[in-house]
Amino acid sequence: MQRKLSRLQTGETEIWKFDCDSNVYLLNIDEPVVIDTGNRSNRDILKTFFPKVLPFEKVKKVMFTHLHFDHIGNFDLFPNAEFFAGKAEIEDFRKDPSGAVLKEEIAQKLKGSEIVLKDAKLIEQRGPEGFRVIETPGHTRGSICILYEPAKVIFSGDTFFRRGKMGRTDLPTSAPEKMQASFEKMLDYNYKVICPGHDY
Ligand SMILES: [Zn+2]
Repeated sequence: MQRKLSRLQTGETEIWKFDCDSNVYLLNIDEPVVIDTGNRSNRDILKTFFPKVLPFEKVKKVMFTHLHFDHIGNFDLFPNAEFFAGKAEIEDFRKDPSGAVLKEEIAQKLKGSEIVLKDAKLIEQRGPEGFRVIETPGHTRGSICILYEPAKVIFSGDTFFRRGKMGRTDLPTSAPEKMQASFEKMLDYNYKVICPGHDY
């Protein structure tokens, strides 16, 4: 059985992975950051394992690699967080929530919440220090990859997976013509560990 909770081998930086259909990552740094929140169908897994590492209340920032339902499903477990996503992703969500999320129920939950999605690029100025937000349109128009430089870790969402496999580009907000360039762009960055949205 695949482990639902694991600590990654990333040296000094404490990074945890929760397998919630898609991967949820916690960077347990001074100001804790979560990347993606998993599928709502796996909510019990997150509720069981996340508090073993950190109370949900302590998370200050949640960054979404993109807004598909299996990456945002448990956003409402983080009551004290600010929420960030790619600029184009937020635009597409405002235009057509269910097209951007791919599941009406989850789209409506996010839309009906108090959450204001902010441009993830703001993190580069506002901190925590060490994050680079890289726009990688393809899987969705507003997909981002998030590099955490101190640990040389890349959070690649559904843009690419291990062994160089690329994400699909046949979804309503995909930008297939941009995927190859996004993939190649990532070769310019220095990282040692890939933390993808799924362990394909
Ligand atoms: Zn996706």
